[in-house]
Amino acid sequence: MPADGIDFTAQLESLLEQVRAKGVRDSRVLEAIRQTPRHLFVPESHRMYAYIDHALPIGEGQTISQPSLVAQMTQLLELTGSEHVLEIGTGSGYQTAILRRLCARLTTIERFPRLTLQAYRNLKPLNLPPITFVIGDGTCGFPPYAPYDRILVTAGAPPKIPQPLLDQLNPDGGTLLLPLGTRQYQLLTRVTKRGTRLRAKTFGECMFVPLVGKYGWKADEVEG
Ligand code: SAM
Repeated sequence: MPADGIDFTAQLESLLEQVRAKGVRDSRVLEAIRQTPRHLFVPESHRMYAYIDHALPIGEGQTISQPSLVAQMTQLLELTGSEHVLEIGTGSGYQTAILRRLCARLTTIERFPRLTLQAYRNLKPLNLPPITFVIGDGTCGFPPYAPYDRILVTAGAPPKIPQPLLDQLNPDGGTLLLPLGTRQYQLLTRVTKRGTRLRAKTFGECMFVPLVGKYGWKADEVEG
């Protein structure tokens, strides 16, 4: 896939090896990563680092997530292709693209309008099926389209899970995946809803930029 005269194919294959080494074996997830050129989602100044397994800056003090973590989180969602998904934290749109290849319907929310616009532009050349973009506070979910089979939060939430996200989960096995913890580090947590019963399981430590909003961190707690 030549871009600006650079062929990233070998780098993508090497990244896929690292993703596999971190336990991602779901062939649909690996194929979605193979089909999604990460360099299209990274600012030009960082494009040469697009296939290194690291988070990178995308503006507004935010980051495109580490690709192996994107893959692990996607695998944990156990998507079959029929799901209605809500993503909170559009960022660059990279995770959005991967989700869209693996589900039936996707809504994505971002609090920074400029990032939403850039994500829309990043995603356009991929000609994916329709995606609903929402600018707003994802800690409130997006009630008009609820319930959701899956909700993925790609920013670090404080220890108390935002109640609107639990309320908007499909009671028939809906799953919420989010980094939960302090501002310094979080535990990747998956919550499954059956009727009114919630079951939580954790999957190791991670470090995300903060989830800022009514049911998240307060802006004045995390921004200067
Ligand atoms: N998944 C993204 C990607 O692949 O580029 C990376 C997301 S970045 C780690 C986290 C994003 O969550 C940031 O863009 C941030 O602005 C956004 N965010 C934080 N709090 C939010 C909120 N309450 N509602 C919506 N987006 C939020």
